[in-house]
Amino acid sequence: MVKKPRQERFLAVYPGSFDPVTNGHLDIIRRAAAACPRLIVAVVANPNKRPLFTLPERVALLRDVCKGLDVEVDSFEGLLVDYVRRRRASLIIKGLRIVSDFEYEFSMALLNRRLRGGVDTMFLPASLEYAYISSSSVREVFSLGGNIADFVPPAVLRAMRRRAGPTRTGKRR
Ligand code: ADP
Repeated sequence: MVKKPRQERFLAVYPGSFDPVTNGHLDIIRRAAAACPRLIVAVVANPNKRPLFTLPERVALLRDVCKGLDVEVDSFEGLLVDYVRRRRASLIIKGLRIVSDFEYEFSMALLNRRLRGGVDTMFLPASLEYAYISSSSVREVFSLGGNIADFVPPAVLRAMRRRAGPTRTGKRR
């Protein structure tokens, strides 16, 4: 009889849109990588949304900013629990910023456990200095000409500047 490969107890998945990856994400990745023997950072394809960066661009940016960290960067489409099962992982990592994150993430954690027994979620509280950063606020501040250098890794800032092209006044953001 062929033995089914066992679920890897210590393989964790940190999912997100990462459009783009911020210093807040990177902080969670570093802390989760220190706590989990194996970590996959998984970029959600989200076919319904129109992202700023394409899926391959988001994956490439993450690989770039995770250089030197012991993590795998991958992507998936469809249900998170199906991806977790395919990868034989057992743990989902989520970052929690503010109270409103908790409400949503708590119900998602319960739903995922209901959809797929054996898959649990662990929350890491955001570090104070990143608790107010989200990909959408970074995109918005940047599009309005604000400085996002403290919120994203330098590679992301460069990619955002390339994407935007020169400003009307010729000034650099
Ligand atoms: P966002 O909400 O910024 O668009 P994602 O959908 O990519 O980001 O989020 C992926 C995960 O990262 C979620 O668990 C989210 O709560 C967490 N996260 C996002 N930004 C931060 C931050 N600044 N600090 C901690 N966790 C964060």
